[in-house]
Amino acid sequence: MSLLSVRDLETYFYTYDGTVKAVDGIDLDIDYKKVMGLVGESGSGKSVTALSILRLISSPPGDIKNGEIVYKGKDILKLSEDEMRKIRGKEISMIFQEPRSSLNPVLTSGEQIAEMLFYHDEEIRSCRDKRSRERMVIDRTYKILEDIGVSDPDRISKSYPHELSGGLCQRVMIAMAMICNPSLLIADEPTTSLDVTIQAQILDIMKDLVQKFGSSILIITHNLGIVAELCNDVAVMYAGCIVEKGDVVKIFDDPSHPYTIGLMNAIPYLEKDFDKKRLETIPGAVPSLINPPEGCRFHPRCVHAMDICKRRMPPNVEISKDHSIACWIYC
Ligand code: SF4
Repeated sequence: MSLLSVRDLETYFYTYDGTVKAVDGIDLDIDYKKVMGLVGESGSGKSVTALSILRLISSPPGDIKNGEIVYKGKDILKLSEDEMRKIRGKEISMIFQEPRSSLNPVLTSGEQIAEMLFYHDEEIRSCRDKRSRERMVIDRTYKILEDIGVSDPDRISKSYPHELSGGLCQRVMIAMAMICNPSLLIADEPTTSLDVTIQAQILDIMKDLVQKFGSSILIITHNLGIVAELCNDVAVMYAGCIVEKGDVVKIFDDPSHPYTIGLMNAIPYLEKDFDKKRLETIPGAVPSLINPPEGCRFHPRCVHAMDICKRRMPPNVEISKDHSIACWIYC
């Protein structure tokens, strides 16, 4: 059994211009102690998928219209808001792409990490002695900061977000997310706003999280390099649908969906530059999710589009073990 199974998830937003089908019938499985990458262009529905998993879609205008999100055997879409609050932060936590704007500017890092313990940790919540409770909180805060490679936890925990670099703010976010030892961490573009050397450090920390904490990770990114570096499995999203998913090695060795092939060809390689070949692009643009194309949503941009592609949505078919694809070429 997977840690988290998403089945036929549909998340829509009702706007004055029409219904935005941001996530339209996706299936996803995240295994225990594994890293899953969710890739795709901006607006393909990656972040909405993550927010749906945590039931953080604001309603109105959004609504999880259909589907199941089964976490450790329970459909979290059927839980009460109180039960859900116990899962957020303790069982499933999330980090965002703009760490500085996600942190509270008027609390120190230590206070923000401690808040998670006061809310979720039973031992600390039930401790009646104020001094012992504070000592436990400080010890746990310093320990988690050390675990993620912060060399001066005392200074960092006493600093406000504006006093820290972007990389340190992201480490504080990771510390907040991991202090209650969640089973699943959702990381939404965790390195986008950071410079390249700090990106590499954050990726190293995330690799360690699986080893040290035994957590699974769902990482949302448009960077295929990060997927290759970090993930065991990958799902490629296009216009609210998953078009290809499976084992990361198989998909990088043998990308099969025309959209995945287009994404791979759009990666600049030094060899290509030496050849003076132009970098390939995918023609056209992502369709409007208010009025997506009939049939396969990729057909207006696909060089292999056939008649059936314009009329009917392709089913998801398994083309080998741990590799499935939604494309009429393989049906
Ligand atoms: Fe292209 Fe048709 Fe496959 Fe869609 S189903 S990716 S249009 S070949």
